[in-house]
Amino acid sequence: VSKSVPKLPSKILELMDGFRASKALFVASKLKMFDHLKCKGPVKAVDIANEIGTSVCGTERLLDACAALGLLEKTPQGYSNTDSANTFLTSDGEYSLHGYIIHSNDHLWPLFTNLESAVKEGSRQNHRAFGKKAEDLFKDYYHSQEGKQRFMAAMHSIAHLTARDVATAFDLSQFKSACDLGGCTGALAHELVQIYPNLKVTVFDLPEVIANTSHFQPSEQHTAPVTFVSGDFFKDNLPEADLYILSRVLHDWPDEKIHVLLSKISALCRPGCAILLAEMVLDDEKKNRSTALLQSLNMLVQTEGKERSGSEYQALLEQHGFTDVKIRMTGNLLDVILCVKT
Ligand code: SAM
Repeated sequence: VSKSVPKLPSKILELMDGFRASKALFVASKLKMFDHLKCKGPVKAVDIANEIGTSVCGTERLLDACAALGLLEKTPQGYSNTDSANTFLTSDGEYSLHGYIIHSNDHLWPLFTNLESAVKEGSRQNHRAFGKKAEDLFKDYYHSQEGKQRFMAAMHSIAHLTARDVATAFDLSQFKSACDLGGCTGALAHELVQIYPNLKVTVFDLPEVIANTSHFQPSEQHTAPVTFVSGDFFKDNLPEADLYILSRVLHDWPDEKIHVLLSKISALCRPGCAILLAEMVLDDEKKNRSTALLQSLNMLVQTEGKERSGSEYQALLEQHGFTDVKIRMTGNLLDVILCVKT
């Protein structure tokens, strides 16, 4: 009797294809194909190829793959964007993910190519991916204007998409002033002043970042202005505030450095002052959330940090007097932890 053939492992096959699908999305974004198709009727592959200067045969295969992946619609008249592509994949949409996609292609892809070494060595791979040993993660990003712009655009795209859920996860109306440490382009800060018109919000970030924020400010502002202050949160004095925000900051650092930062914040906080963390919070058993667990590998290949569970954050915070810790899973890309100094 011949042995039966096992059922096709669709999950494994999908994952084997995953890198091809990601790269198809990245290249279509990099070539701005979704911009060329924005809010237009169907366009033929040959016309897109002529417009962007690519081969017809390559363009047609890429467009077909994107259509099969659900990013485009294909009819006998040609290709058009899906609604989701118009919203998230065109480069100039308010909620565009283009910045993060380009960052994924240009920066994260070469790093993930070295994942095997990262796992063997337990450390970041920037020297292998980019051929140099930088002293610090952010010096890597900010050494060129292009790298800095790309990183800030990537942070901005995710921060803008998550800001509403982060700002409203808890009622923050009891706070009069907030300081967003590592607040980058101010995407969350602008959402906070809209939702809490009486809140004075300061964004604190490295001088290279603060010098580059004007490009990311909302075109119309009907709220109190956000203040931008430059400095190094490990070395310099921090602005005073009732609420300190750390969004996607702690995951960049090992526990030792987090203790330095939390003790500086704690020294400035009276009872009733608080810290708001926005991170992908892992479940305690670290087994349920692949997006967050993959993000932790993303931190391995490029930082000294990692994603942490709610109890791990709680343990870090409690050592600095922040004992009233509440966690909200938002269903968005970032979860929120509010902890009040008691
Ligand atoms: N909070 C933003 C968000 O959620 O989109 C940006 C997160 S990004 C991963 C980390 C931020 O921390 C960057 O804007 C970076 O410039 C800032 N940063 C890193 N080291 C810093 C330091 N020593 N002092 C101040 N800001 C720093």
